Parts: sequence; structure tokens; C-alpha cells
Amino acid sequence: MGDVSRRRYGQATAGPLCLFCTKRDFSLDLLDIFSEHSWLTKSTPQDTLYYKTVYGLFVYWGFGVVQCNIRYTFTIRNMWYSNPEQFKETMGHDRDGRWFPRVTKILDVKSKPALDMFFKEMGSYESAEEVKNKSAEEGTLIHEVVQKVAIGEKVEIPETIKASVHSFQEFAEERKIHFHPEYIESAVISERNRFTGTVDALATIGGKFGVLDIKTSTGFFREYNLQTAAYVLALQEEEMKQKLNLPKDIETRWILRINQQKACTICRATLREKGGRKKIRSGRKPENICADTEHEWGDMAGDIELKEFPYFFYDIKAFLAAKALWEWEHSYWLRQVGYLGK
Ligand SMILES: [Zn+2]
Repeated sequence: MGDVSRRRYGQATAGPLCLFCTKRDFSLDLLDIFSEHSWLTKSTPQDTLYYKTVYGLFVYWGFGVVQCNIRYTFTIRNMWYSNPEQFKETMGHDRDGRWFPRVTKILDVKSKPALDMFFKEMGSYESAEEVKNKSAEEGTLIHEVVQKVAIGEKVEIPETIKASVHSFQEFAEERKIHFHPEYIESAVISERNRFTGTVDALATIGGKFGVLDIKTSTGFFREYNLQTAAYVLALQEEEMKQKLNLPKDIETRWILRINQQKACTICRATLREKGGRKKIRSGRKPENICADTEHEWGDMAGDIELKEFPYFFYDIKAFLAAKALWEWEHSYWLRQVGYLGK
């Protein structure tokens, strides 16, 4: 198959056509084929598509894996985006007429083992995507409702999230969390480090003023710390303090985890439904957990947890390192949009 080495596919409106499997579905601008007979054994979800070089047999695309009949090595350039505008829209926001990349997109450059594990458990890419998208919708709903409840705004609480929201209300009262109404969903920009993001809330707890980020996960993942450190970094800048008219300097940050679940009255295992998927968890040994059909599920109850992460020096450092890597990863498009010099 020496005749196809170094063959180059140009840009085509329907995506380049793969000569091997005749599929047209690649959302890739350019494929360089330069070597033969390589294997690919890894699989990756859409959001963690970082590979510049994909080894043969499979080419990643938005909905999973496209199979070729012949194994080749592809170098994929200009991956994923068909034009600079699409890149800008996906990766960032225009703030006062200038474009900045978003913190959460920058952090996509970091691997997410828990997410990889979830994709693995789900078995198929499509079903994982479906659950992921649906739970993202649920997460958005929780954010919207909780952010209103937090500042005493009237809002209808959907039945599906009542347990979470009521527990949140009790928790916030008990812990005397003050949410500053003027700082809900605030857009922040770092002029110095050129990124943007949206902060869920600024709050005062126990006399300290800080960033409060809401998560609807079962655990605290370390990338949350990078995300909130980036917000702290932006909010430490003089321009931002003035623009938002901050009453004082940011002193700390918290993650507020909001979730709901049912507990088994017999074995205390928990049942959580997210994105249409039921998940049973237990810390006990298998012999001390009921059989799948024998649990006696109690009422839906909220599960709220607040954690403070007062030290952010190393997280800020790590975020900026991630950003440098992200810039390297996307240097082609970042040059196209004028974010990086040509
Ligand atoms: Zn049980």
C-alpha cells in the first residue's frame, strides 16, 4: 500500500472522504497519511479528544469511532473545527468585544479518570453521551433553581429536584451561608492571563468572603480546585475588583456539592439517579449488601456537602500550566483567531 503513503486529503465540504472505508463523516479538515499498519487500542470520549496523531484503524469523530478496513497512521491537523468562528464559539466568550477562552474549556486538557471510568462502565459511547448530556441538563436546572433560592428569589421548584433544593435551603440556613445577590453568575475576566469564566456565586461564610462553586456530583474532583483557583486569580486583579465593585478581597473558595439519593433501609446502600441512569453504591462488603432486587428504598433525600479550599497557590500554578498546555494543543486555531501571535 505504498501508493497511499503521504497522500493528503484537502478540505471538503462534507468532510474528507476516507479512501479505506469510504466513510465521509470525518469532521476533520486535513488528514496526512504517512505510515502503515499501526494499531489503535485506546478509545476516548468526544470531550477529551486530544490526540494529534491517531494510530490507524480508527479515526475519532464526534460520535465515536469510525472504522477503517485498513490500518494506517493518520496525523490529524486542524482537528475538530471547520473555521475560526466555530473554534471561538466552542472555546470561549466575547467579553466587551474581545474574545477569551473559558476556564472549563482550558481544563478539558487535563485527563479526567472518573469520566473515563464512567464511559467504560457505560459500555457504548452513545449511551454514555446520552447520560452525560442529560445529567448536564439536570445540573443546569439545579444551578438555576438553587441560585434563585439562595438569594430569596421566588422560583418554582420542579418535583424532580425538590429533595436537593430543600436540603440545600436547610443547609444554607444552618451554616449561615450568605449569598451576595449581585454576584450570582458573574462573568470574570483575567486581563493578565487572558481567560474568562462564570462564577456561580460569591458568598460570605463565617466572616470570610469567597468564591462558591456549585457541583452536582457525588464527589469532589481535583479539577474543581483548578477551576475555582482560576476564578480567584481573575478576581484578584485590580480591573476585575473595580469592575465588579467587590466589597473586599477574595479570601477563600468553597465547593458546595448538591445531590440527592435514596438509602436502602436494610443495607444502607444508596440509589442515585442521574441522567436517567440508576446507580447503587455501598461502602460495605458484597456479602453485606442486599441482592439487587431486595433493597427497600426510603424517601429521596438531599445530600449536601460544603468544602473550603483556602490555599490556592499551587492550584493557580497548576491552572496556568494547564493553560499553557491548552494553548500548545490549540495553537493552530489560537493563531487563526489572533489569540497567539502568528
Ligand atoms: Zn439494601
